[in-house]
Amino acid sequence: MDSGPDPTPNETPATRHKCSACFKQYKKKEHLVEHMRVSYHSVHEPKCGVCKKHCKSFESVREHLMGPLPKANCAKIYSARGCDLCLNVFDSTEARDAHKELCRLSPASSGPPTTNLKFVENGSPLDMEISGLPSAGDGNEVSKVVALDCEMVGGGSDGSLDLCARVCIIDEKENVIFHSYVIPQIPVTNYRFEVTGITEENLKDAMPLKLVQEKVQEILFNGESIWKIRLDGGKARILVGHELEHDLCCLRLNYPDHLIRDTAKYRPLMKTNLISHSLKYLTQTYLGQFSLANMDQPYLINCGRTSFHKWYDIQSGVHDPYEDSVAAMRLYKRMRAQVHQPAEALTLSGSLHDPWIQKQVEKMTPDALLEISRSNYRCWCLDSGQPI
Ligand SMILES: [Zn+2]
Ligand SMILES: [Zn+2]
Ligand SMILES: [Zn+2]
Ligand SMILES: [Zn+2]
Repeated sequence: MDSGPDPTPNETPATRHKCSACFKQYKKKEHLVEHMRVSYHSVHEPKCGVCKKHCKSFESVREHLMGPLPKANCAKIYSARGCDLCLNVFDSTEARDAHKELCRLSPASSGPPTTNLKFVENGSPLDMEISGLPSAGDGNEVSKVVALDCEMVGGGSDGSLDLCARVCIIDEKENVIFHSYVIPQIPVTNYRFEVTGITEENLKDAMPLKLVQEKVQEILFNGESIWKIRLDGGKARILVGHELEHDLCCLRLNYPDHLIRDTAKYRPLMKTNLISHSLKYLTQTYLGQFSLANMDQPYLINCGRTSFHKWYDIQSGVHDPYEDSVAAMRLYKRMRAQVHQPAEALTLSGSLHDPWIQKQVEKMTPDALLEISRSNYRCWCLDSGQPI
């Protein structure tokens, strides 16, 4: 092997073999190599801002810094100069305080259109403009990513069947690019008003599902051919959302996995046991948007013909697809903005069946081993500056 890294044995008899990422220690080097092979450590993992320990999720970083059993030294430094939202640690308390002003996001500024999108008998929708969307191929980056959220009402004899009744799609700047109520395909048996805010009146002159599907597809595909979308995405848009599988299922649409960025399925945002957090929890924890205590005035939301007041704490009462898509988009952008070192070309993720390669790898330092280790998920930081 002429391109292999130089083995630099630096083991003293007293040194155990310590993983450079998670700091686990092994008696035998081969055990560390095996650990590296199966743990998929990478530059993309969330890290402690103090000791640089790699964790599988931000939740484990949080536990490492805040407990219940925090690492004492890291916890001390973090509580003095760390941001409790993004978990970054700053040079001084002042720098942290200045940063937090920017890190804590305020409620979404504008709501969905206050009027229903009209649909007329002859099949031509009126007022159904897709505003703010540049046409395909004009190089405008704003259009590359969209976030979608649907609200479901209940169908079936017990009202438990989810029927899509409202869709909202926003762009990266949180502009509504599509919003519509949807005529459910079977009779609604439960409007779930307390949660959806949707009434029979809202759905009266709503858009048929088929048309909604076409409009959503038009936005997502962005003029790209289906084979190109399946192949490498082409001009098609990245779709952001929370539990998108559910939304797409209710819309009866398919979209390829490589174009989906789901905040419920993104490894660093999941619980350590690989269970999804709720969008509400993620919004509060990572964007700081639980301003319930700080707000004197209820936040006015216009939902079609109904206006009602609610506090800005997403999903505290009525779900609003605009708020939820904004929350998902903000989480996505925050994750995408992370700066990680580009990875080396070599990788360790493959199996080490060749005994000679195994020997060479065992001679590598823990740092060198980490350098050739690869993540088992696609980090969203890779979306910035690269065509997907
Ligand atoms: Zn490790
Ligand atoms: Zn990354
Ligand atoms: Zn630490
Ligand atoms: Zn922060």
